[in-house]
Amino acid sequence: MAKQLHAVIAGAGIGGLAAAIQLARAGLRVTLLERAPLIDDAGAGIQLAPNASGVLREMGLLDRIMKFASTPEALRIRRARDDKELARLTLGPISEFRWGAPSLVIHRADLQRVLMETCAGERAISLRTGLRVTGFAVASGGVEIGALQGAEITRIDADFLIGADGLKSLVRERLGLGMADAPVWSGRTAYRALVRAADAPPSALRLETSLWLGAKAHLVHYPLRHGEFVNVVAIAEDRRPAEDAEDLWSIASEPAEISPVFANWAPDARDLVAAAREWRRWPLFDRNPAARWRIDRVALLGDAAHPMLPFFAQGAAQAIEDAAALGRAFTAQAGNIQAGDINAALGAYEAERARRAGAVVIASRKQGAIYHMRGLLAAARDIVMQRQSANQMMNRLDWLYNFTPAKT
Ligand SMILES: Cc1cc2nc3c(=O)[nH]c(=O)nc-3n(C[C@H](O)[C@H](O)[C@H](O)COP(=O)(O)OP(=O)(O)OC[C@H]3O[C@@H](n4cnc5c(N)ncnc54)[C@H](O)[C@@H]3O)c2cc1C
Repeated sequence: MAKQLHAVIAGAGIGGLAAAIQLARAGLRVTLLERAPLIDDAGAGIQLAPNASGVLREMGLLDRIMKFASTPEALRIRRARDDKELARLTLGPISEFRWGAPSLVIHRADLQRVLMETCAGERAISLRTGLRVTGFAVASGGVEIGALQGAEITRIDADFLIGADGLKSLVRERLGLGMADAPVWSGRTAYRALVRAADAPPSALRLETSLWLGAKAHLVHYPLRHGEFVNVVAIAEDRRPAEDAEDLWSIASEPAEISPVFANWAPDARDLVAAAREWRRWPLFDRNPAARWRIDRVALLGDAAHPMLPFFAQGAAQAIEDAAALGRAFTAQAGNIQAGDINAALGAYEAERARRAGAVVIASRKQGAIYHMRGLLAAARDIVMQRQSANQMMNRLDWLYNFTPAKT
C-alpha cells in the first residue's frame, strides 16, 4: 500500500486553511504551522466573488458560510464630489445565474472560523499555532522544516512544503524567488472600519456594495453581519514612507488622519466616514507576479505567490482557487503517489495557477489607476461608465468570476 503523504503548510490564513482542507480530502496528512498564538478576530469585511464562493460550495462549506454572509443586491458606483450615480450592476440572483455562484460579503473572522472548524473536523489535519517557520531544507525524499516555538526550535519532516505565509513570505524569500521582486510600497493606504448600523447614515444600510470614486481616493462600503455593521474601506494616496509592521492589521489610525481626504465629498460619504470611531490602517504593497511558484518539493500559495492590490477584491478569492487547484493536482494521483509524482503534482498546480493569478495581479493594478483618476481622465472614465449597459459590465467581469478550471 502506498504510504500516506505528509504536507506541511506554513501559514494558516484563508489560503493555508483552504489548502489544508483540500489536501486532507485528497488523502494526505497535513500539518499547518501558524506563527500567531491564536487566530483571532482580526480584520474586517471581505467580498467573496462568485469564483471564490463557487469553490467554497464545492467544498461543502457554503451553507455554513451563508449563516454569516450577506448577498448584496447590487454594486452601485457613485462620483464622490456630487453623489452622481455612474453605474449600477444588479447582483443578487443574477450572480448565481450568470456566474454560477453568489456574490457575498462576510467578516473575515467568520470565514476563517468556518475554515478552522472544518480543519478541526478533518482527522488528517493538525493545526499548530505559535510556531514560526524559520527555514527549510530539501533533502532526499522530503523537506526538513525548522520552526521556532518561543525560544525552542522544532524540526518537522514532510514530503513537501507549501508556503502560504502571506505578503512577506519567508518561504518565497528562501526559495530565492523573492529577490528580484520584493514588495514595493504602492504609495496608497487602505483604512478600514466597522460602523455600528445605529451610527451609520441610513443610505449606507442598503444591502448593496457601494463604490465611491474620488480624485486619488475611493471608498467602498457594505452592510456586514446581517446588517449589524457597515464595513468601510477607504483607499487613499499616502506620501508617508512605507511602514513595516509584522501584523499589518493592527496599525490603529486616528479619525483626524482620514477625514481630510473626504472633506469635499458628498454628504452621505462624509457622514459615513465621520461615523467611524476606530480605524485600522493597512499600507498597500505591490509585487510583480512570481514567474515560478515552485522549486522541487516547495511551492507557494495565496499572497505568498501573488499578493495583489485590493482593487478587484480578489486576493482571498485567488488563494481559495489556488487551494482547489492544489487539491485537484493530488486527487489526480488517486492515493497512488510516489516520490516523483509529488513534483508532477506540484508542477501541475503551478501550471494551472500561475498565469491566471498573474493576470489578476496585473488587472488589479490597472483597476487602481482607473479608480483614482483625476481631472479630464476622471471625466472621460465617468462618461464611459454611464454609457455602459449592465450586460457590458458583466461581460467585463466574466473572465474573473466565471472561473472553472476546465476553462483555464
Ligand atoms: C484593504 C484590503 C482589502 C481586501 N479585500 C479583499 C476582498 O474583499 N476580497 C478578497 O478576496 N480579498 C481581499 N483582500 C486580500 C486578502 O485579504 C488576501 O489576499 C488574503 O487574506 C491572503 O490570504 P493568505 O492566506 O494568502 O495570506 P495571509 O492572510 O497573509 O495569511 C498568511 C498567514 O501566514 C502566517 N505566517 C506568516 N509568516 C509565517 C511563518 N514564518 N511561519 C508560520 N506562519 C506564518 C501569518 O501569521 C498569517 O496567518 C484585501 C486586502 C486588503 C489589504
